[in-house]
Amino acid sequence: MPECRYCESQFEAERSLRQHLYWSHERGELGRIDRKRVEQFLANARSEDNSPVDIESLESFLSDADRGAMLPALTEFNTWLTRAYTYDGREVCDDLFWEYYQRATEQCDTIIREDGWTALSPAIDEFGQSDWQKAPLVTPVIANVTSRFIIRTRAGESVNAIPAAALRYLGELPEYAGLFDAEIHAEAALYGWGIGHESEAIADRIFEVATEDTQWAHSALFEAFWADQHEAVSLLERLTTSPDVPRTRFFIGCVGLVDDYARTPEKSHLSHPRYWATNDQFTGDFTWNRSVATQIRKLVSKLASEFNTPSEWPNTDEDWTFEQLRF
Ligand SMILES: [Zn+2]
Repeated sequence: MPECRYCESQFEAERSLRQHLYWSHERGELGRIDRKRVEQFLANARSEDNSPVDIESLESFLSDADRGAMLPALTEFNTWLTRAYTYDGREVCDDLFWEYYQRATEQCDTIIREDGWTALSPAIDEFGQSDWQKAPLVTPVIANVTSRFIIRTRAGESVNAIPAAALRYLGELPEYAGLFDAEIHAEAALYGWGIGHESEAIADRIFEVATEDTQWAHSALFEAFWADQHEAVSLLERLTTSPDVPRTRFFIGCVGLVDDYARTPEKSHLSHPRYWATNDQFTGDFTWNRSVATQIRKLVSKLASEFNTPSEWPNTDEDWTFEQLRF
C-alpha cells in the first residue's frame, strides 16, 4: 500500500498518493521522485478533464438570488476554484476566490436570512466533514454564512436555538489544513458564540483545540466573551490553570483585547464574519460584569505570583500589560 514518506498517510492506490502529494505538501519539501509523481498527477488531471470551465450557475445566482440555485452555484464555485488551483496555480485561484467571495457570501446569506436552517443545512452536508485531506476550497463561504447564522440565532432567539450541526461544522474546521487556512480558521473562531449550548460542549472543544492550536482557541475564546462572559471566564480559568495548555499568558491577552474593544465601541470588534456590516450591533453594549471582572483579577494575580516578576512572563507577540485590565 503506497505511503506518504512525509506524513505517513497511507493510500489505496498510487494515484491517490500522487493527488495527496500535490494537495497536502509544498512542492519544495518533496524529493525528486515525489515531484515527478506530482507532475504525473497534473498531466493526468489535464488529459482527463478538458471540459471548459463554466461559471454560468454562479453568475446567474449572483444576479438573481434564486433559492434552488444556491447549492449548484456553490458546487460550481468550488469546482472552478479547484480547477484553477490544479491547472493555473495558487495565485490564479486566490484571485478568483477573492473576486467572488464577498458576493457569493452575501447572496447566500440573503437566502439564509429568510429560510434559515433549511437553506444552510444542505450546504453544510455537502461541503462539511469528509474524508478529504483538505477542506473544499469553497469552505470560507460556508463557514462565513454559518457564523452569521449562529450569531443571529443566538442574539435573536437563544443559544439553544442554534442547531448543533452548525456548531459542529465550525468546531471541526481547525482540524483541516487547506488552501485558505487562515480565512477558514478565522471564520471558524465564531464557534465561540455557541458557548453554553446545552447539547454541544463548546468550552470542551475549545479547550481540546487549545492543547494543539492556541491561536484558534484564543480567537474562539475572544468571541465567547462577547457571547457570554460568565461561561467564557470559566473556560479562561480552565485554560490558564491546565498544564496541558501552553502559553498561559497568551490567553490573558484575550481579556486585554476584549477590554480594549469594549472601551472603544466605535471600532467593530468583529473582523469576522468577513463583510458582515451589521456586526456593529454586537459591539457597542459590552460591559464587564462585576463578578466576572473580579474573577479575572484574581486569576491574573494568581498567575503573576507563579512568576517572580512580570518580566518573567513568557513573551508573546501581543503588546499586553496589566494596564490593559482597567475594568
Ligand atoms: Zn503526506
